[in-house]
Amino acid sequence: MGIAENIRKIKDALKEGVCLVAVSKTKPDADLLEAYGAGQRVFGENKVQELVQKYESLPKDIEWHFIGHLQTNKVKYIAPFVGMIHGVDSLKLLKTIDKEGRKAGRKIACLLQFHIAEEETKFGLDLAEAREILTSDEFTQLEFVEIRGVMGMATYTNDTEQIRREFRQLKSIFNQLKQEFFVGRDSFSEISMGMSGDFPIAVEEGSTMVRVGSSIFGDRQYA
Ligand SMILES: *Cc1c(COP(=O)(O)O)cnc(C)c1O
Repeated sequence: MGIAENIRKIKDALKEGVCLVAVSKTKPDADLLEAYGAGQRVFGENKVQELVQKYESLPKDIEWHFIGHLQTNKVKYIAPFVGMIHGVDSLKLLKTIDKEGRKAGRKIACLLQFHIAEEETKFGLDLAEAREILTSDEFTQLEFVEIRGVMGMATYTNDTEQIRREFRQLKSIFNQLKQEFFVGRDSFSEISMGMSGDFPIAVEEGSTMVRVGSSIFGDRQYA
């Protein structure tokens, strides 16, 4: 099946209001243009250099989301144009994003990444660490970051009940933070969860943003 058809099928399966982030990492510009031709405008990348190259060569009305682990020394390359940074998991990174946002003259949308999976290797905060960041004086002084919600990745497993539990946990973290720190702030509204293997469960559990790669573009080949 072609890319355009894959996108149409996935969009049909999403609830209204759920944003599809087309994860195009490792894929050539031609593939992204095919998705673009099918109306797709939000793309996700996880490498800074690749993101910058694609931003430069592809249409300017694309909204680029950074979905990977972001090193502080690379924030400056994407700050002028990035639409959202999904994987924020430290105050240090937030402070750098703020600094680069200030230089670029724009407020940068960020999601706090939470560790919900069983695997040790996945990045992310727990609720206590997030509270520590959000209550710190340093955080409250930041003017060029906007926390728009939360992001997480479920364990890579066939156990759908486990996946569902982990997504529920992220939704509950979102609700907690909303209540404690973002009451009445409509901008805190996103729950980025769900990938090719698990996005239907994520949507059932309240996802507002799914990050889908291989179900759109096919399997990735890593050189
Ligand atoms: C690669 C990636 C995805 C997409 O994965 P697929 O299984 O190809 O849909 C989603 N989120 C993150 C953070 C990723 O790195």
